[in-house]
Amino acid sequence: MFLTISTRGDAAHPATDLGYLLHKHPGKAQTFSTSHGTAHVFYPQADDAVCTAALLLEVDAVALVRKGKGKGKGRGRGGAPDAALAQYVNDRPYAASSLLAVALSGVFSSALRGVCAARPERAAAPLPLRVEVPALPARGGPDLVRKLFEPLGWTVSAEPVALDAEFPEWGDSRYVRLALESEALTLAEALRHLYVLLPVLDDAKHYWVAPDEVDKLLRAGEGWLPTHPEQKLITSRYLSRRWSLTRQAMERLELVRLAEADDSEVETIDNAVPEDTGAETEEKPAPLAVLRREAILAALREAGAARVLDLGCGQGELVRELLRDTRFTEILGVDVSVRALAIASRRLGLDRMGERQAARVRLVQGSLAYTDRRLKGYDAAVLSEVIEHLDLPRLPALEYAVFGHARPRTVVVTTPNVEYNVRWETLPAGHARHGDHRFEWTREEFRSWAAAVAGRHGYEVRLVPVGPDDPEVGPPTQMAVFHLGTENAGTARKTDGAQKEAEAA
Ligand code: SAH
Repeated sequence: MFLTISTRGDAAHPATDLGYLLHKHPGKAQTFSTSHGTAHVFYPQADDAVCTAALLLEVDAVALVRKGKGKGKGRGRGGAPDAALAQYVNDRPYAASSLLAVALSGVFSSALRGVCAARPERAAAPLPLRVEVPALPARGGPDLVRKLFEPLGWTVSAEPVALDAEFPEWGDSRYVRLALESEALTLAEALRHLYVLLPVLDDAKHYWVAPDEVDKLLRAGEGWLPTHPEQKLITSRYLSRRWSLTRQAMERLELVRLAEADDSEVETIDNAVPEDTGAETEEKPAPLAVLRREAILAALREAGAARVLDLGCGQGELVRELLRDTRFTEILGVDVSVRALAIASRRLGLDRMGERQAARVRLVQGSLAYTDRRLKGYDAAVLSEVIEHLDLPRLPALEYAVFGHARPRTVVVTTPNVEYNVRWETLPAGHARHGDHRFEWTREEFRSWAAAVAGRHGYEVRLVPVGPDDPEVGPPTQMAVFHLGTENAGTARKTDGAQKEAEAA
């Protein structure tokens, strides 16, 4: 297994600075013993203009088998007549894989963390880099290789390697010759990309994936994985498709993303006073957030709900209102953001609350994109300004988790009406109301989504405007109130892929 990393020098910096950054002297070849063989680091070229470091891992295939590892988990070899032989004669010694990734992190551990006492400013700055891996097993082919590396700022060349150079008619092998180039990345970023993506492309791990792999993935993925478009594939392959770990990792990545999203603009529009298009009044109209909570409470009271879910409860404003009305006997607030829940808990004073009051309310962390048994058996669920925070492709998973699985009798959903945005004086044209909104719908888009959801799960739905209903563009907030048709109570209908997705965990 072989990998090279090259950089170019410039007037101010000799290329051989790479030796400092990797903590390996360019003048000598070094050998390290790793748990699966011997790793060599040497420099085929090291001068002021160009410096190339090579990592060669000599895998001890016999030792690998003796250790009881390396059985090619997930490769479908088990049971094949030549399975025993395949344990010894396989691509392990040649093809870059999780073994190489482990060697990389062992041999270049400081570089991976971006630590360099001798050249700290070089470690922190982007470098011209070229990485070559002559034999990379790429499940998913060159296209997937590009999809994984290009969003990270690499220029990618991934040439399929022929099965046999003398018999081109045999076609390509599953290996590619990989070359990556970038001038925008630090060495540590580059190494962390390789550490995660080499085993992802190989799609097999030579060792049992323990729960601490989630921590390793999040550490190595810091700064790039939370926003990578192929995050799900990367996470699930890296964790060898262990769904409970994948789910855990995805939820934690979502937390990071939300924490990073700029929430300084949260609520600015919500607290703005909607233009009252009706008759002039002396009284100051109420902010939209207040009108929305009033509309939701009215719908819940009308439905006779006592046990209520506040899904995506955020900082607990609605939970506070629900607590004020004793007809709501049990309130469960759910949010994916631990931070929001901590704020909610503090603001509601959960720890200072009397026993009777405290018994009525609970806040739990959870993601609405997954089915959750804790959400079953409630009278009503509220999704107030939540759906637009999910990527559209994940919305069917939420739909199934709420309407198909939790299945309360009443569901109240609110979301912005994008048509109204032209009426907000402070909102630049074409902008969403909040930086984290993945979409904002017109009245027609929301109506057709709501009708489809109701149809799929046996609910009836009614649409209610919230805020002044502008004759041209409609109200600022749109609300859908779903009721489970009595003849449908208890029957969960399936929505194909969405169910699988939601239950993947
Ligand atoms: N319901 C509140 C907060 C809306 S902001 C209100 O009306 O004011 C959207 C909330 O949804 C945030 O708190 C966010 O953390 C939460 N959220 C976003 N995606 C989520 C998911 N997949 N699972 C659970 N909560 C989610």
